[in-house]
Amino acid sequence: MASKGASRPETATDQELLEVFLQHIPDDIYFKDRDSRFVRISRALATRFGLSDPADAVGKSDFDMFTAEHAEQAFADEQEIIRTGRPVVAKEEKETWPDGHETWASTTKVPLRDRLGKIVGTVGISRDVTERRRAQHELHEYKKHLEELVAARTAELTRANNALASSNAELEKFAYVASHDLQEPLRMVASYTQLLARRYQGKLDADADEFIAFAVDGASRMQQLIQDLLSYSRLATQGQQLELIESQVACNTAVMDLRLSIEDSGAVVNIGTLPTVRADPAQLAQLFLNLIGNAIKYRNEHTPEIQVAARAESGRWVFSVQDNGIGIDSRYHSRIFEMFQRLHPREKYSGTGIGLAICKKIVDRHGGRIWVESRPGHGSTFLFTIPQIERTAE
Ligand code: ADP
Repeated sequence: MASKGASRPETATDQELLEVFLQHIPDDIYFKDRDSRFVRISRALATRFGLSDPADAVGKSDFDMFTAEHAEQAFADEQEIIRTGRPVVAKEEKETWPDGHETWASTTKVPLRDRLGKIVGTVGISRDVTERRRAQHELHEYKKHLEELVAARTAELTRANNALASSNAELEKFAYVASHDLQEPLRMVASYTQLLARRYQGKLDADADEFIAFAVDGASRMQQLIQDLLSYSRLATQGQQLELIESQVACNTAVMDLRLSIEDSGAVVNIGTLPTVRADPAQLAQLFLNLIGNAIKYRNEHTPEIQVAARAESGRWVFSVQDNGIGIDSRYHSRIFEMFQRLHPREKYSGTGIGLAICKKIVDRHGGRIWVESRPGHGSTFLFTIPQIERTAE
């Protein structure tokens, strides 16, 4: 690109190069004598000092330009450089100006030596980093603000959680006490209505027979409900420690307990290989009992066929209880795990609507999840997970 006759850099004298530097580099450049008085300054610095000619700064010092606070610090630094010969590199310093405003500069100062190596002053270059500092400060303030917000929100959540936990505990206690204390008077009502039925059946009029039958039925349903409620609240109050158990054994226990309804319905229950898990044995058996019990109860005209299985999947066991019964519309797939949620009238399928709520609570306590996959007329598969035992911990 060089055109004929153009001067090449090496033909420029040091003095010329220095002039270019002082005139055009946008940083503050200055040469000072041993008393920290300006010898030369760049045009950029002159502008910052409010001088139209850089030469007007000669003989002046920082004390003429900045507040004493800043000038004293700069003076001390320079005297130290002159004394020791050690430079100050990229020091971030605050510059306070006489009109009160502040700027930040990243400053490097080195000793200025004559040809014999004697220190005759200092040379410095300062870059204005006010904007960067401001952005950093803003970022820092913003982060602090965010942290405060997060802390406040966490405290709020913790408070709400504690309140919820204590109100849950109170509710559980209430449910337990209420259902426990209701059992006794209810037993009385039930046995006397049964007595009435036995003794006066056919001796009063037809209406009386019907009324007594309603009373007997009502009392026994209420007993069932209270028993279910009690077992629900006992899950929390009387749960045993989780221990290493064979889930196969828990499942066999459930099948044993269900043998009457298995015989009545002719159900076929196939149990695959089930793993060792960390669980509460009684609760795991109850979980299988409720799920297999429902699989038998909600059957259609076909003989119930039930598959119990487990597979390992990303650190957990996925258990499944599959039936060929009536199935469940997807609209109800989550609702059925809530208390008292039933999809059928009592006359068709007996029940209290607590069984699956119990299942959910048991699975929750074991750190797992329960859900159903089903379509009406195509059977249902209830699935639940239990974390796998960590081998290293055993
Ligand atoms: P309950 O059996 O006492 O009604 P559950 O909580 O055990 O109460 O079940 C809730 C509802 O979920 C049942 O009323 C029934 O409609 C539905 N359900 C549960 N298990 C099955 C199943 N295996 N097949 C079809 N429907 C089921």
